[in-house]
Amino acid sequence: VRATRGGEEVRAYVPSMGQIFLRRFQMVTQFRQALEEGQLSVHYQPKISLPSKQVLGVEALVRWVHPEFGKLDPDEFVPAVEAAGLIGVLTGFVLDESLKRVRKWMDEGLRISVAVNLSVRNLADVDFPAKVVDSLRRFGVPPGLLTFELTESGVMADPQKALPILQELHELGIVLAVDDFGTGYSSLAYLRRLPVDEVKIDKSFVLGMGTDLGDLAVVRSIVELGHSLGLTVVAEGVEEDIARDQLEAMGCDVAQGYLISRPLAEDRLEAWLQARTARSAGRQRETILTL
Ligand code: C2E
Ligand code: MG
Ligand code: MG
Ligand code: MG
Repeated sequence: VRATRGGEEVRAYVPSMGQIFLRRFQMVTQFRQALEEGQLSVHYQPKISLPSKQVLGVEALVRWVHPEFGKLDPDEFVPAVEAAGLIGVLTGFVLDESLKRVRKWMDEGLRISVAVNLSVRNLADVDFPAKVVDSLRRFGVPPGLLTFELTESGVMADPQKALPILQELHELGIVLAVDDFGTGYSSLAYLRRLPVDEVKIDKSFVLGMGTDLGDLAVVRSIVELGHSLGLTVVAEGVEEDIARDQLEAMGCDVAQGYLISRPLAEDRLEAWLQARTARSAGRQRETILTL
């Protein structure tokens, strides 16, 4: 059984269609209760600037530990939740958790932004920008510390609907990023029409760039294209020193990947940040942390 999302093939399960259907059905019907019971949480993966290695922000990635199925892959349950019309609930949860976290950092004198993944369905909700403003107000977080990540295929699904909402979010001062870039209908003309600030090179190219000259060429051209459009270029899937060094040499602005850190639960992220703070010899917690 296959499904395509953002150009990536999402392989579900080897079990029978009936089992897959049942599992999806259970996920969807149990979702709200699972949220209430605390089965869902948000993990955070740090992003660093190149070459300075400053910790600029984190990406929020939702996690669901199901009592029966165990750890569920967001690539499996997010589309199910989306299809069931519950994505607003999911995004609201992730957004609130993320802004609560940014607020704590602000109170500690740290300037760390958070990136939340959106689904195309969020952009079909005309009230979405108002909900975001409400959340920013509740936590007292400036919009510049919030980034929304959208896949290009997501925006392309219904540009008429998506564009005005994106425009509104952008005018609020929220940073907009195109996620998984290179896997969809990427074209220069298309990127120019979107109010985006950042482009994230899909991890498949970054993972392959050490061994595949084609992938390397794609990465290089996205860096150049992004810069020529005045965008910040982020590479995800940075697993090796060599990849980071190559990206740095190309002028890529930001790196994210297992080399820097895996996505971490809140307490583990705090420890990760603390260790970096301690390293900045004898000084107090800095406004900007460096790896
Ligand atoms: P994404 O937004 O492209 O997130 C990056 C994915 O790459 C994450 O997978 C992350 O754990 C993984 N990753 C990061 N660094 C590396 C690396 O160095 N190597 C490799 N191999 N992988 C790396 P994750 O957490 O399983 O999330 C998968 C996708 O699920 C995300 O892709 C995003 O599209 C979606 N997703 C996750 N959280 C949310 C959410 O809160 N809302 C929505 N709408 N979608 C979400
Ligand atoms: Mg993302
Ligand atoms: Mg991505
Ligand atoms: Mg992805």
